[in-house]
Amino acid sequence: MSLSIKNHLIEGAEFFMSPNQSDRSENIDLVVIHCISLPEGSFDNDNPKKLFLNELDLVNDSSFKSLEGLKVSAHILIERNGSLVQFVAFNKCAWHAGESTYEGRDSCNEFSIGIELKGSVKKEFTNEQYCALNELLALLKKEYGDMDVVGHSEIAPNRKNDPGPYFKWDLINA
Ligand SMILES: [Zn+2]
Repeated sequence: MSLSIKNHLIEGAEFFMSPNQSDRSENIDLVVIHCISLPEGSFDNDNPKKLFLNELDLVNDSSFKSLEGLKVSAHILIERNGSLVQFVAFNKCAWHAGESTYEGRDSCNEFSIGIELKGSVKKEFTNEQYCALNELLALLKKEYGDMDVVGHSEIAPNRKNDPGPYFKWDLINA
């Protein structure tokens, strides 16, 4: 896989524009890693994509009730096979971090790129996902300059625990 970025979009990646986005007020200098699966631990469906497009039918699973009214997105979702799906152009804010703080700065959406791995805090991620993530991180740094890479749990420790204990930080070329 050889990736490139044009007009703040990954060339060759599928792009489904999420309505859950806003203009940026700050430069990008952070990447936030998340994981998502709906229901938790169920990977073989498009529910995260539907969530980011406000198209998830909340009656499909009892666990979805808590998602009612939630307006969220990520720039990129990395599927289990390593394929990339984009939802928000990198020059816009995706709504992934929520209430968050990094090195004394609040509202991390303003200065970060949000990457969701299809996965669970209770399961291993795939080698294909680590490969795709490393290639993506290298590309983002080339395009937007150096940036720190953190987990969601690091910037919202009281609310969030993703990507969780199975995420192998030593496999990331940060
Ligand atoms: Zn998260």
